[in-house]
Amino acid sequence: MIEIKKLTFNPFQVNTYVVYDSTKECIIVDPGCSSKAELEVLTSFIAENALKPQKIVLTHPHIDHILGVVAVAEHYNLKVYSHEKSLEIISQGGAYAASYGMSSFESFEPDFLLSEGQEIEFGNSKLKIIYVPGHADGSICLYDEEDKQLITGDVLFQGSIGRTDLPTGNYTLLIDGISEKLLTLPDETVVFPGHGGNTTIKEERETNPFF
Ligand SMILES: [Zn+2]
Repeated sequence: MIEIKKLTFNPFQVNTYVVYDSTKECIIVDPGCSSKAELEVLTSFIAENALKPQKIVLTHPHIDHILGVVAVAEHYNLKVYSHEKSLEIISQGGAYAASYGMSSFESFEPDFLLSEGQEIEFGNSKLKIIYVPGHADGSICLYDEEDKQLITGDVLFQGSIGRTDLPTGNYTLLIDGISEKLLTLPDETVVFPGHGGNTTIKEERETNPFF
């Protein structure tokens, strides 16, 4: 069984997920830590649970989701995995950070590029990559098919969807992608979004006002 621990960081209240299994190997999804104190919350959780970080995976390249990438990568000597279409927005991270008054952002380039259908492996587990553009180019959801768990980044939220007014946003693409690739997953699938609380595919199919 894959365990998913949620930690919420930075002024944008991004959910950073530590995803691990019985082998204690883990991946860190969207390290949003923006201070030493936040980095310590993450490293303490990992140490207390004797977890062994294997890789950093980005759901998408927006600044709030990547603020802690360099600090976490250096702390654990990890490689960064991101979708192949995320590069341009990542390369503009410094400018986005500056526009929000965050001078401490350190730029980086992903080490490995992902595409739909590939899998992220750690321990005895794998997560399937589902590509859902429309909130930002390079947005992926991570699907734990065995345990029916889905990390959605800013694609799908409890009762809402990702905003589409930022560069590379596209409302139709987002709605179509969620309808075809996410809402078709099993009812009981638990959704772990990039902001806010968890939900399920059934709840969103039945009550999300965008569908
Ligand atoms: Zn976003």
